[in-house]
Amino acid sequence: MPFKTLDDVSDLNGKTALVRVDFNVPVEDGRITDDTRLRVALPTIEKLTAKGAKVALLAHFDRPKGKVVPSMSLKFVAPALAALLGKPVAFADDAVGDATEAAIKALPAGGVILLENVRFHPGEETNDPEFAAELARLADIYVNDAFSAAHRAHASTEAIARLIPAYAGESMRRELTALDKALGNPERPTLGIVGGSKVSTKLDLLKNLVGKLDYLSIGGGMANTFLFAQGFDVGGSLCEKDLKDTALEIMAAAAEADCRILLPLDIVVAQEFKANPANRTEDIGAALSDADKIFDAGPKTVDELCKVMAGAKTLIWNGPLGVFELPPFDAATVATAKFAAQQTKSGKLVAVAGGGDTVAALNHAGVADDMTFVSTAGGAFLEWMEGKVLPGVAALEG
Ligand code: ADP
Ligand code: MG
Repeated sequence: MPFKTLDDVSDLNGKTALVRVDFNVPVEDGRITDDTRLRVALPTIEKLTAKGAKVALLAHFDRPKGKVVPSMSLKFVAPALAALLGKPVAFADDAVGDATEAAIKALPAGGVILLENVRFHPGEETNDPEFAAELARLADIYVNDAFSAAHRAHASTEAIARLIPAYAGESMRRELTALDKALGNPERPTLGIVGGSKVSTKLDLLKNLVGKLDYLSIGGGMANTFLFAQGFDVGGSLCEKDLKDTALEIMAAAAEADCRILLPLDIVVAQEFKANPANRTEDIGAALSDADKIFDAGPKTVDELCKVMAGAKTLIWNGPLGVFELPPFDAATVATAKFAAQQTKSGKLVAVAGGGDTVAALNHAGVADDMTFVSTAGGAFLEWMEGKVLPGVAALEG
């Protein structure tokens, strides 16, 4: 790995580690409804405190846009984190400043403090070097454990990493290692699955992947645009007809790069957008009416995809193959996910998946834990799949 990890730090006794985490947790009526992001940070906190470091946690919450917005305070996270850690977590009312510095100073070796929402300061999102210097003053080392925030060049993710010794935290390291196995340095043959609703949101992603993968399966609503571009009837389906030429360009680029594109061979069609409506399965090329909408891929498509997957060593997956929220249009996604899980469990496949709805679909299929790695990083994961440089990661590489 081209960056330093926590294994590279030795003497931290009484020193302060400023750790950027992602504590932007979902909240309803003041209650945290999913504490995954807190749990993900535990290995880094525990590793640092075990080395005797004082840990100051730095995070954003919501979008206060550079102003103090009391309803966006991070204070409520401290007791929840304390419960998970099994030790006290102090709280500082500001991410920077003399009082915060004093509060860190007052911590015992191995103590933990959470700092107030870093986005209360305008310098955070502008990546202001002066604000980064105020942050850097608080600590001896900087640790970035928030891959999900690494696609933004902010003071707490980018500028600070250039001011004091910077390290990747455990979750950051895990994420980058998995992503490298999937796309950076994968075992071939490699298969990508890209689904979801629209081609327009995933153009950069498709363009990057066709240059890198041996096979690319295009599914979900975006497959309709590709089918339409090839002259097949898509009826009243979600379809970006204006992107016909773009779809053809992507297919040509794939052919040029020796990436085989897999499009649906058969489709599941219905007229009503609801659970369990009347529906039928057709081969592509069948005539569809304007009321017909393609909501899922059919069994022949899944069969072909699983055959290719059986011969693949690496799978990278973003986007469901159908409207998985409405049964029975979850069928292709669930069957494919189960097959990927089986291949992974038997050691034949490295399977890495990410994306908000993709994670939900894999959970729905009951196989999220059976994949090699499931990224919950959202935008950062997608930008990484697009082949973009993530400023927060680049800054760690120095
Ligand atoms: P992710 O969040 O994993 O990146 P997307 O947001 O791109 O995924 O896509 C997920 C959405 O795509 C889901 O809400 C799903 O219902 C929708 N979708 C999948 N297939 C179709 C289809 N054939 N027609 C319309 N929407 C679809
Ligand atoms: Mg989504």
